[in-house]
Amino acid sequence: MELFELDIAGAVSALDNGEISPVDITAAIFQRIDAVEGKLKSYVTLAEESAMKSARNAEETMKSSSRLALAGIPLAVKDNICTKGVTTTCSSKILENFVPPYESTCTRRLKDQGYILIGKTNLDEFAMGSSTENSAFGHTGNPWDLSRIPGGSSGGSAAAVASDECIAAIGSDTGGSIRQPAAFCGVVGFKPTYGRVSRFGLVAFASSLDQIGPITKNVRDSAILMNVIAGHDNRDSTSADLPVPDFTAVLGHDIKGMKFGIPKEYFVSGMDAEVETAVKEAIKKLESLGAIPVEISLPHTEYAVAAYYILATSEASSNLARYDGVKYGLRVEGDDLIDMYMKTREDGFGAEVKRRIILGTYALSSGYYDAYYRKAQQVRTLIKQDFDKAFEDVEVIVTPTTPAPAFKIGEKMEDPLQMYLTDILTISVNLAGVPGISVPCGFTSEGLPVGLQIIGKHFDEKSVLKTAYAYEQGTEWHKRKPEL
Ligand code: GLN
Repeated sequence: MELFELDIAGAVSALDNGEISPVDITAAIFQRIDAVEGKLKSYVTLAEESAMKSARNAEETMKSSSRLALAGIPLAVKDNICTKGVTTTCSSKILENFVPPYESTCTRRLKDQGYILIGKTNLDEFAMGSSTENSAFGHTGNPWDLSRIPGGSSGGSAAAVASDECIAAIGSDTGGSIRQPAAFCGVVGFKPTYGRVSRFGLVAFASSLDQIGPITKNVRDSAILMNVIAGHDNRDSTSADLPVPDFTAVLGHDIKGMKFGIPKEYFVSGMDAEVETAVKEAIKKLESLGAIPVEISLPHTEYAVAAYYILATSEASSNLARYDGVKYGLRVEGDDLIDMYMKTREDGFGAEVKRRIILGTYALSSGYYDAYYRKAQQVRTLIKQDFDKAFEDVEVIVTPTTPAPAFKIGEKMEDPLQMYLTDILTISVNLAGVPGISVPCGFTSEGLPVGLQIIGKHFDEKSVLKTAYAYEQGTEWHKRKPEL
């Protein structure tokens, strides 16, 4: 096995035993990047110099001080999470040269545990999209088929993990942006409960939906990263002041007798037949492990995409008002202040970001507020209540992550609505604020990965991880690697 193929758990034990050093593993990752990054373009920025320096420091500190959970572990971070001193672009021209003067809480916690930042991964501009094609710096390739997209918006993080360009990565998920690319790239992606991981330093898209989480080679690694990044933070007023469990403690617990819900609305007509088959097989697998399937209903599912695109664009229109050419980021000079604002935003934002600002501003305008924004909030409550009710009977809910596998580059770019519909099975989870994971559950005849989504109650990440781990251990899907 090559060093870059290690997972976090394997790398930690190899480092502990002294079989490898932080410099060995970090250098191996950069060699891998040299070999495959030209095809993939997972990264916006590579931090090789600082990474090698951190690796050398880690060698020193590992000798002297007590063991840190991620000492010497090379990770990638989505480029909408602020890393002090390392450019954070959000894959937008407007932040192309933005070097944050502060560290996000998530990466601060990773740093405190000794991680090595390999680089910042590509995304749809400001995390708005489902394919990474909305990046101002070009799209990322899907490691399983370079003519296809890796999903989005955390497409760079998912592709980097799938192709061993990092040991694991961090992403963000507003409507599916961790789970959908994880499904398309054949890796594990976990969106925690809203409020579980601090959003301080995550560049805001839709603040009531955004959540940071891990993208990893397997379920255990997601639990390991959750142990580091979860927990209350005074700098994020929506972060939950609750005790943080040891997320790895439940791995290996059996799921005999556990009830899991299968929502009938998630097996939609028009869904890809091979995806449906793979997910039904996965359900059988869970049954063979002793879990009990229960048919449930989440009746307001059909309104989720519409409600999401009102709420997310409304919040985005407000959050993105800060990019005005004055405080930071791009400035295009104009005849007067208003002209400068307009030229800056005209040049700095891509088409999808502009579309959303316009839509969100419209939805919030006084004449339409009740018809759109208020109505969407009411629908959101109904969707949350659907989940509350379902969870009275079942411990977790199991669905496909996406209705179809990764699509071709360019296939949906001319039709935003088709693009929006790729998130139809992930969006409700964000609207309800509950945790959800995607784990590999098969491949299509064309060799494209399929994802299984497991959803839990608020702050019950443990049941999600327990179920995902039990399933993963009973299957081999997560072991397959793309040929690059
Ligand atoms: N694809 C969805 C959107 O375009 C979700 C993106 C995300 O989760 N950041 O908004």
